[in-house]
Amino acid sequence: MSSIILEAREIRYRYPRGMEAVRGISFHIRKGEKIALVGPNGAGKSTLMLMLNGMIRPDSGIILFDNEPVSYDKDSLRKLRKRVGFVLQNPDRQIIAPTVYQDVAFGPVNLGYSESEVKSAVREALRYVGLEGFERRPPHLLSGGEKKRVAIAGVLAMDPDLLVFDEPTSGLDPSGSEDIMELLDELNHQGKTIIISTHDIELAYPWADRAILLLEGRILQEAIPDVAFGRPEYVRQAHLSMPILLDIYFELEKRGYSLPERKPRTVLDMLQVIDVAFKKTPCCHASPGTISVFDVDSSLHDSLPGWLASHPGVSIGAMGTRAKQHAADNHIVLDFTYGVIDKCILRAIIGESSLILTSTGMVRRVEHRALEFATVSGISVPVRLMD
Ligand code: ADP
Repeated sequence: MSSIILEAREIRYRYPRGMEAVRGISFHIRKGEKIALVGPNGAGKSTLMLMLNGMIRPDSGIILFDNEPVSYDKDSLRKLRKRVGFVLQNPDRQIIAPTVYQDVAFGPVNLGYSESEVKSAVREALRYVGLEGFERRPPHLLSGGEKKRVAIAGVLAMDPDLLVFDEPTSGLDPSGSEDIMELLDELNHQGKTIIISTHDIELAYPWADRAILLLEGRILQEAIPDVAFGRPEYVRQAHLSMPILLDIYFELEKRGYSLPERKPRTVLDMLQVIDVAFKKTPCCHASPGTISVFDVDSSLHDSLPGWLASHPGVSIGAMGTRAKQHAADNHIVLDFTYGVIDKCILRAIIGESSLILTSTGMVRRVEHRALEFATVSGISVPVRLMD
């Protein structure tokens, strides 16, 4: 099990002239974890998150980062904020400079990077969030999703280890929200530890490794998502609703079907539950379709148009910001932009082939998910990396 990156011990905080917003909270976050902090308005989520990079100092209790108690002198806080990046809910409050470049450069400049280091940090961060070419644009003219990406790039430019996102999808439309969740996944895949606060259970449920339910400044429940979101009394108390897939699972269980113990987190998982419940052999075409994977970071761009021309009608998905950007730049119409691997496996089991555009770091995930699916279902979906 990986080591602990951040730990809170019995932390409390009362706003001046306000009520006690955080009332004795203890938890830890392991390196590489994805944590969803969930609870109704006023539960203390924002206050708690602001404590994670020292913007609020607890009245009592301590926070440890990398096993060291956080100190609140200027120098220690600057070091902490380099390692714990915070993305505010409202990008308009985070973006301060007149151009995208200046805004993203703000952190690296403050950290004393040289000019060439600043340039390369900004270039890399903007590339990562899919905003290459936006350097001179004034942030106030960007869309909500683009502003969010600028705010994220500003934090990424400092290369933090832990990223804290307050309501990362608030104000975004469903597809913008999915894009941001996927970006968080991609960052996590690159080794970043991520904690988000959210009201959106349907997005948090399949995404998080662990959920922490907060209520009135205290932790109500802390567990893997299907436990945290699967107890009706907790869900009710925390003013949440149960994720739809869990709800269906429990309804099937109440009707006496014998179900696999592993709760469904995606539609693909749910279909497997249904197959088991109704004792069906999984519906499968005699020969499953192939999932081809194209790495947009590779230098094989010339081969893609020919491949697409010789595979008309194939479903295409893009996973990750750069892959989506590549599709847009090359006028490739996407059938799937979120939950892409599962959607392609769903196609494969009815005999249809598909193509996933993705970036280097994510290629392995396709193979891994297909293997996981084969273990549970016995259906082996071929995955072929285009080379
Ligand atoms: P959440 O993010 O879960 O909505 P918050 O951390 O914003 O919760 O708020 C927790 C409690 O602290 C609420 O009762 C809220 O009214 C109070 N609070 C938040 N910010 C302030 C503030 N600046 N001054 C006084 N009270 C505040």
